[in-house]
Amino acid sequence: METTDAFTGLRCTDCETLFDAAETPGRCPDCGGILDPEYDYDALDVTPETFSGEGRGLWRYESLLPFPESVAVTLDEGNTPLVEAPNLAEELGVGQMYIKDEGRNPTGTFKDRGQAMAVTAAAQHDAETIALATAGNAGQAASAYAANAGMDSETFIPTRASFINKAMINVHGGEMTVVEGRIGDAGAAYDDAIADHPEWHSVKTFVTPYRHEGKKTMLYETVEQLDWELPDHVVYPTGGGVGLVGMHKAATELRELGLTDDLPAMWAAQSEGCAPIVKAFESGADEHEPWEQPDTICGGIEIPDPGASPLILDALEESGGGAVATPDEEILEAALTVAQKEGVEMGVTCSAATSGAQKLAQEGEFGEDDTVVLLNTGAGSKDADVIRSHLMSKGI
Ligand SMILES: *Cc1c(COP(=O)(O)O)cnc(C)c1O
Ligand SMILES: [Zn+2]
Repeated sequence: METTDAFTGLRCTDCETLFDAAETPGRCPDCGGILDPEYDYDALDVTPETFSGEGRGLWRYESLLPFPESVAVTLDEGNTPLVEAPNLAEELGVGQMYIKDEGRNPTGTFKDRGQAMAVTAAAQHDAETIALATAGNAGQAASAYAANAGMDSETFIPTRASFINKAMINVHGGEMTVVEGRIGDAGAAYDDAIADHPEWHSVKTFVTPYRHEGKKTMLYETVEQLDWELPDHVVYPTGGGVGLVGMHKAATELRELGLTDDLPAMWAAQSEGCAPIVKAFESGADEHEPWEQPDTICGGIEIPDPGASPLILDALEESGGGAVATPDEEILEAALTVAQKEGVEMGVTCSAATSGAQKLAQEGEFGEDDTVVLLNTGAGSKDADVIRSHLMSKGI
């Protein structure tokens, strides 16, 4: 396995044992906990210049990643723009508002960052087939990266997932099992299938230790795009929490390396129709309870049982952020607001971040000089039918 100099192994977030990455493709072999890539930061001598101009997309940060660009499975993911949103800033009464536009990634969502890293790891483990259960976008990304790497992919996806996701998994030549129901049903079918196929390499959320590692680069880029100033707040549409956990880790790394001196407040935005993280945060719990009747138009965050909730809740707590839920009606309205006031095409799932930020502003969580970053985790055009239906329901 080819790894970068500072990468020292995978640390279990539960029992804290450190494992050799070459021998551990998934969860902790001892306790089943989530594994987290670890680095020797003291051995690194990085300055802002280290990252400028080197490598492609997110691989510019290879010194802070497990694998070097030379072995990367990549479609030039990352390097997405941070778009100013002055009209939204005015509406919310904050200093600056930016939209990190992850819709500009190869398959239209930030899932590409996670799959670039996870499929690179799969290649380093000599995998021939990757497998996952997905609400949709991760499956599309995984099938694209598998195609790029010359691997097979096995995706378990619920009937509820969007047509675009299913169509593009086919187009990339991936194997797809469409499971009646929701993400939990797809997960159960995946569990059954992988039990029969121990040779499959899992790239499922927080089974592979690398998806949050790929997604953490969103925070590096954001800080770099703000000339190494930290934003005060980052609002993130939260499902499994991969991106939130990754970005919070990235912020702690930049602080550890002396490139910044604080942490941005991380806010988990969810829909009122499926808000296990918000409920757990508000009750002060250490972990979530599964949401019984998930029901939201925001497919990417309709995750009733996010297994990494202790890590998500820790990140919210440690960063001084929190959690916010808004109804689907307001989320759909927020997608229109952003498209019409700023011209940015925001996905429906992602608009939970906008709608959540509107609510946080009303509740006085943001200062009038604060800088707020919203994550547009996926392209609005992937949800064109849903957003347009909402418009039509208003008689427009
Ligand atoms: C997967 C997904 C999310 C949620 O991502 P997590 O990191 O698992 O919380 C948000 N938005 C979109 C568009 C997604 O596809
Ligand atoms: Zn463990």
